[in-house]
Amino acid sequence: MKTHALQCRCGKLTGQVNVPRKGSRGVCYCKDCQTYAHFLGTADLVLDEMGGTDVVATLPKHVRFAGGVDALACLSLTDRGILRWYAGCCSTPIGNTAASPGLPYVGLVHTCLGSPEAIEESFGPVRMRVHTKSAKGHPGAMPLSQAVALAQFIPTVVLARLDGSYRTTPFFTDAGAPVVQRRVLNRAELDAARQAQ
Ligand SMILES: [Zn+2]
Ligand SMILES: [Zn+2]
Repeated sequence: MKTHALQCRCGKLTGQVNVPRKGSRGVCYCKDCQTYAHFLGTADLVLDEMGGTDVVATLPKHVRFAGGVDALACLSLTDRGILRWYAGCCSTPIGNTAASPGLPYVGLVHTCLGSPEAIEESFGPVRMRVHTKSAKGHPGAMPLSQAVALAQFIPTVVLARLDGSYRTTPFFTDAGAPVVQRRVLNRAELDAARQAQ
């Protein structure tokens, strides 16, 4: 299967992701993704001019880390938040997952996937824009392609449940725990990151 290189900014954490026949690429404008980028000090790198984060949605089993795995770090904005994986060496966002492996989804953040041209070549154009109400501005709506992209991706997730392949993931142990200790932001950290927006 064709693969696409994955790497943090400083080059310590490396890996690859399988390139699907049809990519599911989207931009998330939610407040939490913006808060996260500000907390890591990477807002300029991560967010587009309207506060959006470009992500490639795929199954965790398609992601493999190769070098520098000890740099992998994980945080949540709140106790109930999703897991936000990043490279601790240089604070490069890597991807976001659910809090348990039972929902086999990872949204890989563009910052670990190279240039916009390389991302487009492997994963196609942006097909979904979500949480546009929190955008700074008015991202163009794309209702039809959005529905099509979702319709293509959801069966993939369901299939991974049915065939048990959701257990293959670089983010969780066989027992279903995150591979590294998750850090939850404290109130002061969260408020500061929110105010930075
Ligand atoms: Zn790094
Ligand atoms: Zn978001």
